[in-house]
Amino acid sequence: MIELTEALVLSRQINQSCLNKKIINVVVNQNPHKMAWLNKDINEYSKFLIGSSFKLAKSYGGMLEIDCEKCHLVFAEGVQLTYCDSLDSDLRHQLFIEFNDHTYFIAAVKMYGGIWCYNDVFDNPYYFIAKKKPSIFSTGFTLDYFSQLINESNESLSLKAFLATEQRIPGFGNGLCQDVLWKSKLHPKTKIRYLSKMDINRLYDSMIELLHEIVDSGGRDTEKDLYGNKGRYNTKMSLSGIELGCPECGSSILKESYLGGSIYTCPKCQIKQ
Ligand SMILES: [Zn+2]
Repeated sequence: MIELTEALVLSRQINQSCLNKKIINVVVNQNPHKMAWLNKDINEYSKFLIGSSFKLAKSYGGMLEIDCEKCHLVFAEGVQLTYCDSLDSDLRHQLFIEFNDHTYFIAAVKMYGGIWCYNDVFDNPYYFIAKKKPSIFSTGFTLDYFSQLINESNESLSLKAFLATEQRIPGFGNGLCQDVLWKSKLHPKTKIRYLSKMDINRLYDSMIELLHEIVDSGGRDTEKDLYGNKGRYNTKMSLSGIELGCPECGSSILKESYLGGSIYTCPKCQIKQ
């Protein structure tokens, strides 16, 4: 899943590898996927893209946008983006772009995800919110701003609901939520009304520190980057971390379903308040 850390890593990698190469071939929806969200007729994608090139990639929350000469491409959620110079015969994809140096940019939807193209206005509420709110990596995301987000929210929300739903923090999803809460020694089910000022400060610091660490490590080990490599940040509270136990105290990690996704917690380090 592209969360805000992956969107940032991918945008940097696209800027390093894919800019200013002339697009000579485009294939859209070769392998139709029920949950691939496309917003234009497939011929429109080709019309805008062929003969042009990528100019700049940037991220807004969990959304990745590539400015092209005649249009913009936007990717979100469970889209795997890959840049490569050879193709597997069994490759499935919903957007395939060939550059004039015979390298390829490919977007393939895993569970669900958006592969959008627009040339004027992108009428998508999630996109507007992601663009409008301050990024965690910007100076606008201060402790005051974060505390205010908590104070303005319904106090009966759990921490997971507060952090990872309703786009309060665009691009911050269930995956990032797990390690941030573990690092903060807070439980995903704790209601935000029980958070002390110290808890909020610790949560804020953990969030900023951890997200920078993940980006500096090229993403999480649960996701693949633009070149098909797993991120070097080893997730702790995840399916890949569960076998190792809690890195802090060695306890077995608990996995349970909560609010439409799995949560992973350490029973000793994260006590529900
Ligand atoms: Zn622990």
